[in-house]
Amino acid sequence: MKPGGPWPGVIETYREFLPVTDETPVITLREGNTPLLPAPAVQERIGLPIPLYLKYEGANPTGSFKDRGMTMAVSKALEEGQRAVMCASTGNTAASAAAYAARAGIESIVVLPVRYIAMGKLAQSVMHGARVVAIEGNFDDALRIVLAITSNYPVQLVNSLNPYRIEGQKSGAFEICDALGDAPAYQAMPVGNAGNITAYWKGYQEYYAAGVSRRRPKMLGFQAEGAAPIVRGHPIADPQTIATAIKIGNPASWKSAEAARDESGGLIETVTDDEILEAYRLLSSTEGVFVEPASAASIAGLAKLVREGYFQREMEAGLPEDACAVAILTGHGLKDPDRAIASAAEPIEAEAEADKVAEILGLRRPALV
Ligand SMILES: *Cc1c(COP(=O)(O)O)cnc(C)c1O
Repeated sequence: MKPGGPWPGVIETYREFLPVTDETPVITLREGNTPLLPAPAVQERIGLPIPLYLKYEGANPTGSFKDRGMTMAVSKALEEGQRAVMCASTGNTAASAAAYAARAGIESIVVLPVRYIAMGKLAQSVMHGARVVAIEGNFDDALRIVLAITSNYPVQLVNSLNPYRIEGQKSGAFEICDALGDAPAYQAMPVGNAGNITAYWKGYQEYYAAGVSRRRPKMLGFQAEGAAPIVRGHPIADPQTIATAIKIGNPASWKSAEAARDESGGLIETVTDDEILEAYRLLSSTEGVFVEPASAASIAGLAKLVREGYFQREMEAGLPEDACAVAILTGHGLKDPDRAIASAAEPIEAEAEADKVAEILGLRRPALV
């Protein structure tokens, strides 16, 4: 599947699975090809009975998986002669749209719920030259506004309702299968607007249909307890969670997320903010992988399923010899530095003297023999 030489980005690598032609101008930041890391420490700590891998999407060019979809959406917008793209965003879609639009030499407009956006994401949007519209409201309000504008003005919608976003994002599933030699038995991920679970399931289905992989995973999706419309079965008017990337009350891809869950024999469940923060600290302190809070919902969710006996039941029902779980870590920890500082120990204060610092640290010189 993969050509030789330096990684050319998602479109060139998976061209045969994507709706592009030789005429499509490829706008890429060489996204994709992110690490699939074994996570033995987290596996042991949460008591998962099968190997765990982390798909570290924070390693994408703008620090989240959104780049996989944005390379497609912006390339196709350019192909169709559009000169501006627009999105509603909790931050990462905006950062990615702004970067790819800058690279394509077109305009980007992003509508953000200003009170709930992580600083790193806002910094990216402004640096890439997006026109930033900050609204008093939440993501669902922002999306409503953007849908109204993009259907009435010559501006291309690049939220995940844009089918090219989903097309690009399915490349994450391809990479996992390429790396493991087959699909994993389970895939865990956060669910917000539900485009990504839709995209991953589509990718797994297509690789299976093409005979590249021999099985499909059970899709395990996790929503924050205060923002769990799919789990509750109705929209949430005022969603609440510290995981701002999944602070969404009325997901655009609701139906296809349910289809991914049901067709795969998986589930969509809730995790609390406390469980998310615990997983957030666990990942960074034991595996060296720093993610934003929404991403930690994958691990919080797996931990919850272990506690509830889910994997025990699965094992009794019979698992393949080489079964493993992959957790999608959707975004980089540096996106939301305020949350990290607020949830970790304070630095130790000391005078600028080596002896004083050593004393405070409780260090002793080795005895001479
Ligand atoms: C966008 C995003 C999500 C949610 O993905 P959906 O496709 O909206 O379900 C989760 N985590 C991060 C870091 C994101 O940027």
